[in-house]
Amino acid sequence: MRRKLVAGNWKMNGSLQANRILLEEVKSKLQVNNCEVVVCPPAPYLQQCQAILAGTAIGWGAQDISMHAAGAFTGEVSAEMLRDFDCSYVIVGHSERRSYHAEHDEQVAKKVVRALANRLTPIVCVGETLPHREAGMTAEIVSAQIEAVLGQISPEQVADIIVAYEPVWAIGTGKTATPEMAQEIHALLRRKIAEKNAGAAASVRILYGGSVKPDNAEELFFMPDIDGGLIGGASLKANEFLAIIHAV
Ligand code: PEP
Repeated sequence: MRRKLVAGNWKMNGSLQANRILLEEVKSKLQVNNCEVVVCPPAPYLQQCQAILAGTAIGWGAQDISMHAAGAFTGEVSAEMLRDFDCSYVIVGHSERRSYHAEHDEQVAKKVVRALANRLTPIVCVGETLPHREAGMTAEIVSAQIEAVLGQISPEQVADIIVAYEPVWAIGTGKTATPEMAQEIHALLRRKIAEKNAGAAASVRILYGGSVKPDNAEELFFMPDIDGGLIGGASLKANEFLAIIHAV
């Protein structure tokens, strides 16, 4: 039985004041429902999350890490630094990193390796663009993306990753994959994971991301291979984020 997970990706949003209001409201209104909850703020706010969330049921993580351990990499944040703020998770390979920062599968795989080596759980994002979907290439694209990561980790480490299927055309657009469309790709991803470690495939959580809202969360989370969501826009509004969590 996989425990559902709802993770909020704040992207480049927030302020000390706005974060405090949001986190306090989520903390106080969160109903225990066996759903794991995580927030991923911009890096400067990790310490604030640590201060507000330590000892609560809500975890925190970063939105990206460097594939390097340390050194002359201006602007980058290392996996080790995230450990200083008790982060448990890190999003890797988000489509906005892939498209605006030209991150390719090989870099994403290196970041996953770096995260695992530092006891961070990587939330590995995969997903096709609209032209890929329209060309019937969805399975090919997401398979290549997940295989690039699986190829760089050991069979044992497979159990330590989380995957997020995020069709690029659904991110921030208000368009959502139907539960059936998402389920088909989630099942494909689980088969790919099983090729590397059949035992772990049953336990690896595969999240759906792309315009998840309170009114579509329940039907998405109901699908057998959808183990929760990676939530962008709706994670910035306490009432919407809570409604999605409680949809579990
Ligand atoms: C995301 O950024 O990972 C995401 C899914 O965004 P949104 O929920 O806004 O589509």
